Amino acid sequence: MTKVVHKFGGSSLSSAARYQAVANIILGQCQVGDCVVVSAAGKTTNTLVKLWQSYQQRDDNAFNDILLQVENHQNLLLTELFDAQQASALSERLKSELQSIAKDAANNVLHEASLLAHGELWSARLLANLLSTFNISAVDIDARKLFTQHQGQLLHAQNKQACLAQIKTDKIYVVTGFIASDCEGNTITLGRNGSDYSATLLANYVDADAVSIWTDTHGVFSTDPRKVSSAIKYPKVCRIQANLLARLGNPVLHAKTLSPLKETNIKLQVRSSYDPEAIGTEIVKQGYSKDKRFITTFDELDLIRVEGLLAGEVRTLSQLIQHSIHHFNKGGEDYLLVPSNDTHTVATHLQGRGNIVESHLRGLAIVAPSFEIQQLTQQAAAILEQQDVVVRFTHSDGSYALFLTDQSIDSDVLAILHDKLVNKGRELAVIIAGLGNVGEVFVEQCQKQVEKLQTTFDLKVVALVRSKEMLFCPSGINIDNWQQHWRSEAQSYQQADLLERIGELDYEHKVVIDITASDEFSGMYPSFVAHDCHLISANKYAGTAEQAWYAKLIDQLQERNLHWRYNTSVGAGLPINFALADLQNSGDTVTRIEGVFSGTLSWLCSSFDGSKPFSDLVLEAQGMGYTEPDPREDLSGRDMQRKLLILARDLGLQLDVDDIALEPLMPEHLALGDWDSFLADRASLDAFYHQRYEEAKLAGKSLRYTGALDINEQGKVSAKVGIAYVEAGSAIANLTPGDNIFVITSQWYDSNPLVIQGPGAGKEVTAAGIHSDLYWLTQKLR
Ligand code: ADP
Ligand code: ASP
Ligand code: MG
Repeated sequence: MTKVVHKFGGSSLSSAARYQAVANIILGQCQVGDCVVVSAAGKTTNTLVKLWQSYQQRDDNAFNDILLQVENHQNLLLTELFDAQQASALSERLKSELQSIAKDAANNVLHEASLLAHGELWSARLLANLLSTFNISAVDIDARKLFTQHQGQLLHAQNKQACLAQIKTDKIYVVTGFIASDCEGNTITLGRNGSDYSATLLANYVDADAVSIWTDTHGVFSTDPRKVSSAIKYPKVCRIQANLLARLGNPVLHAKTLSPLKETNIKLQVRSSYDPEAIGTEIVKQGYSKDKRFITTFDELDLIRVEGLLAGEVRTLSQLIQHSIHHFNKGGEDYLLVPSNDTHTVATHLQGRGNIVESHLRGLAIVAPSFEIQQLTQQAAAILEQQDVVVRFTHSDGSYALFLTDQSIDSDVLAILHDKLVNKGRELAVIIAGLGNVGEVFVEQCQKQVEKLQTTFDLKVVALVRSKEMLFCPSGINIDNWQQHWRSEAQSYQQADLLERIGELDYEHKVVIDITASDEFSGMYPSFVAHDCHLISANKYAGTAEQAWYAKLIDQLQERNLHWRYNTSVGAGLPINFALADLQNSGDTVTRIEGVFSGTLSWLCSSFDGSKPFSDLVLEAQGMGYTEPDPREDLSGRDMQRKLLILARDLGLQLDVDDIALEPLMPEHLALGDWDSFLADRASLDAFYHQRYEEAKLAGKSLRYTGALDINEQGKVSAKVGIAYVEAGSAIANLTPGDNIFVITSQWYDSNPLVIQGPGAGKEVTAAGIHSDLYWLTQKLR
């Protein structure tokens, strides 16, 4: 049985590389019996429309040029995707089809829909053949054998039978989108963008569980993400709003896409074929998601007032012009929004009942929850006026407002409208992982902070997560008495449960705040990002993970417009990462970072004065809780090595942890064995330290444990963490025991470096540093 119908639009099939990517998605996500619905490759339908127009205009030169263009485009795909023999066989078939198109044109018997159908036929054939080269058993099906229509109505019972008879469970079926036939066997099309509709129809007929519409964006956004980079991707959009957007001509879904899903539980998702691991947008039944705000734009529309509009006439007209037509009633009169190119056809059909009120209009529609429409309409009108856009016609009803103008609405105006009307006062779901020392203080501080941030953001802590248990509440946890909630409601979980719950959250923005020290938890970052979460980490593991993994995570974040803050992973609340970013953003070049980035090692080296053995100090620090449970973890220097790596990556350097030389603050043999054997041999630690301390003193210097990163003029990098003898009286020598220090030398801070110094550990300052990251994020998302 077909489980899923996957639909790939032209944007997913625009080049040989995209076909390969689609084949890989099918390879990874499809099972035999699944159906794949394809559109024509790239802009092929547009080219075929031009071919049809040149035929109608009897422009032979243009006709032949366009035909050649079509042939070259298809042949390019074939040669890039297949070996010479297969490419040539497929190319021969194409050639004979093109010849018969030319012949029909010469004989004046070319038929529009049959001509346009070729786009889908070619892409289905190509993809099925390509899948076979991957050893996937696949076959292409011409949807004209599946979908029959009579007098504008699809014959559902007959179509269902045809689908069930042809689609079995032995192969992957690659079905042409967009086309169908009438009872006489003539080709008809389902309208521009109609492959989405083909996919949901097919899913209905074969009783599929789900439809995935794969396109070139990550889902359904608050506005066209190609025009406005801050467009918000919505995790869920309800069917009614999706349908309204489609009726208003938004291309992301075809207007009829949702009708076959009525009364079914078929799940519909919009996903990116460029980023198949990302979770897309789910189109859910009414009531399963809050209404969202959208702005959709129009180009080249005519406004037609119709007298005596008949029932079903809008439908007939949109069928006629192959395009959705938005219809509304204002002041008792019926209006249609018709693509300018099609006005003639529509007017002819209306036989004098249609008056063109305005032509060549552009504009936009705001779609929003009904209680917000009135206010948004007023705000939008004011913004458009400020932007010198003269509105020629407006209309609003309970769920949208239209603004029509004859000026172009450029991306800048759209971005301003979007920022002021949509991307304001939105919701942010906060997931806090790690409720240890710092985590608990962070949650305590949350109460006050949330109130403060509330003015710009509706911020809710939706999850508190420990290593084995979590408290998850999508509507928000009352953090005032979270412990009480925790005791009664926390549940044990697996990673998959946490991801599933995050996937279900219906918030515009989500952030995972990682205050764990867990390598395993940081391993989930790519999955969090796939679920559209921003990241804030105090945890150092992800920032110091293997370069390839790290680089991929950064790419993933950038691709999805998500942010990652990790200011507290180095120097707790000290603003070191801010400072480095700021210097670089303002054109400076950092040449050296040196410092002490471990509170423990800072305390040990700065406190040692020779009056007692070094190991006594180590045990004292351990007793006061200044060290890791096994202080050798601190003495190993690994923690500082990781922090230096994070700073190096902040400077854009591609390093791995092993590229940073490491000299521990203890004899090597002491790192081996258990704690007792260390204690038994502590004299050798004392001798080790004492010898170096005396050496430094003799040279008039101070022993410190430092990290240093140097970038020379040729860009060569050297990095080291270890014992250093620093000038007496220098900032590092004078460091207050326990403090961190960062000494930054740059083009501008050359002879006199920039110094950031202060407590680099402690639960209050660290928790405050995490809040500073959260604040930064909310400002960035405003
Ligand atoms: P396909 O070829 O996959 O059917 P379309 O070009 O028909 O793709 O539709 C996808 C395009 O819709 C995107 O490239 C994007 O530019 C545009 N678009 C407009 N508004 C939105 C929106 N609100 N959300 C997502 N995409 C949108
Ligand atoms: N190829 C058709 C079009 O460009 C159908 C589709 O893409 O959905 O409109
Ligand atoms: Mg489309």
